[in-house]
Order: sequence, then structure tokens, then C-alpha cells
Amino acid sequence: MQETIEGVPGRYWHRLADGRIQCDLCPRYCRLNAGQRGLCFVRARASDGIVLTTYGRSSGFCIDPIEKKPLNHFLPGTPVLSFGTAGCNLTCKFCQNWSISKARALDRVQETASPEAIAEAAVRHGCRSVAFTYNDPVIFLEYAVDVAAACRARGVKTVAVSAGYISAEPRREFFRHMDAANIDLKGFTEHFYRNLCSGKLAAVLDTLVYLKHESKVWFEITTLLIPGENDEPDEIEALARWVMEHLGPDVPLHFTAFHPDWKMQETPPTPAATLKLARRIGKEHGLRYVYTGNIHDPAGQTTRCHACDAPLVERDWYDLTGWNLTADGRCGSCGAPCGGVFDGMPGQWGRRRSPVRVAAGL
Ligand code: SF4
Repeated sequence: MQETIEGVPGRYWHRLADGRIQCDLCPRYCRLNAGQRGLCFVRARASDGIVLTTYGRSSGFCIDPIEKKPLNHFLPGTPVLSFGTAGCNLTCKFCQNWSISKARALDRVQETASPEAIAEAAVRHGCRSVAFTYNDPVIFLEYAVDVAAACRARGVKTVAVSAGYISAEPRREFFRHMDAANIDLKGFTEHFYRNLCSGKLAAVLDTLVYLKHESKVWFEITTLLIPGENDEPDEIEALARWVMEHLGPDVPLHFTAFHPDWKMQETPPTPAATLKLARRIGKEHGLRYVYTGNIHDPAGQTTRCHACDAPLVERDWYDLTGWNLTADGRCGSCGAPCGGVFDGMPGQWGRRRSPVRVAAGL
């Protein structure tokens, strides 16, 4: 028996001459017959168009430190109301969040919340921003955009944690509504993207160049280093050189540790030495803000002034332990500007993670 598919009308698709409908939201361009779902699972053909089946549904809400996204240069120390839905448009074998991204029966997205209810909850809990995270918000664009608009109306900022795998036209709409992003640059070869994610590196690089040169979004980059897959110094060098050349020295780069998960249980965790070497390579190529993540490494998590090398923000995991920035984001020692979005004194949220209920309002 054919499944009954329900959802809100989706954008970015067109009809093909053979009767199928092509989704144009991401570079997969799924071509769907009646009743079929796309690779991301949450977009499907119904009512002779594409619908989004997860509008208003989430896997639950949590208040996290903004540093956990990770964003080190966006309102440091502040709490961010975080949520995800289900599904993903990449198929990474090393997924560190697979219980959500691979959710199929939508049984994990039973909480419902209207855009206004989410913005209201952020205000009520003192969150400066709302993050679309845990799974890629690109695939629930219509919901993410409505939530972002409701947040802006209440003075709350929004953060997209994404792999940046999105086509050019929806990219413009999606990021117009975002204030900050962390983009996963999963590796730096087409081979890596093709074999481990069934995606294309070039599309992600296009998104990074777009964000830098055609948007106002503050963004940082995260690369999960996986032993034997993308951790060769040559590949890290090529990545750092590309970032420097195409995005400039001020885009922060986070090298984070892999833990065996999903379909890569046999691969060992990333040694701390690999992350520290990657950080050194990034800095040697002129990048000003290069961090290690998922390991305890206070030196690798400290923001230093690019002009006088004074520590600007010191961190111990997600706790801020030192602050030497002026209210407008300049070095307290020499006055050189630090790239980022700063607003007076840092927040005091610390490393807490606090689940919250959001009234549905749908
Ligand atoms: S968003 Fe989903 S349905 Fe659309 S092209 Fe990408 S994977 Fe396919």
C-alpha cells in the first residue's frame, strides 16, 4: 500500500518532460515519481509538487553554549536554543549525529513547535540566538526560514550548522535569514566527498565563497579529522591554502576529533597530536584563528590577537576563563580588531547543556 505523504508545500522544484518532479534544493536534484521521497527522506512528492514533511516538528530543544556549535567569534559565552528535525542530504559514513540525521519513521521528531513559539522560548530563556543544528537545516528550509523571521522580529539571532550542500538559488534565500553559520568542510578532496558522503566538494566550496563575498553572515568552518581518511598534512595544507586564498585570514577554522560512530566503528579516534599539527599548519598558512575541538587543549581553544599575540578569549572546554576584548571587539592590549560579532561583555552561560520544553503553538 502506498504511503500517504503529508507536509507543507516546498519551494525549489520543477516538472520534467517525463512527468517526474525534480527537487532543485540541493545538488542531488532528486527526480521523483508520485509518492516518492528524496534522499533526504523529509522532502517528498505529494499533491503534484514537493512537500516538506517535517515542518514544525523537532527532535527536542536544548540550550547549549554557543561555543559548542562551534562558534568562537559570535557572541561568546551566550546560550543558544538549539534544535534539529530529521533526515540529511548527505550520507556520511562517519556521521556523529546519526540517530537524528538518519531518522526515518519520523518517530524522533514528535515535538512540535511553531516559529513564534520557538522565538518566544528563546526570549523567555535569555538565549541570544536559536541554532538549527543536530541535522542539516538546508533540507527543512521553509521551516528554518520562518523560524528565523520570527526570531528576527523578537531580536533573537539565528545560527545554521550546515554542510553547505545547497543549490545557488535556495542558498540566497536560506542565508539571507541567518546571522551566523558553522559550515562543515568535511574533507578537501572530491574523492573523500564522493566515497564517504556521496556528495561533491565543489558545491560546498561554492557556498563558502558565497558566504564570504555575497552575504553578511558571520561564519566559521569545521573539519572533522578522520584517521586515514582526511588527516594527511598535504590535504590539510591544501585546505588551509584554499581558505586563505578564497576567504581570507579572518574566517575561523576548527579541526575537531572524530570518535568511532555509525558505519565507521573500526576507525580509531583522532589523536590529539593530529589536531595540534593541523592547527599549526593552518596558522603557518596565515589563518588567524585556528582551533582544535573535541579534545581538552586550552592553548588550541584560545583566541589570540593577530597583531600582538595577546590572548583575547581563553577557554576551558566551553567555559570562558579569560577575556581581553573591548566592547566593540578590539584587542584590549593593542587595539587591533578581532574578526567576529561581539556585543559588550561576554555571556556567562558556561558549559551547561539544558533540555527545555517549547510550547507547541501550532
Ligand atoms: S533536498 Fe532532499 S529531495 Fe531535494 S534534492 Fe536534496 S536530497 Fe533530494
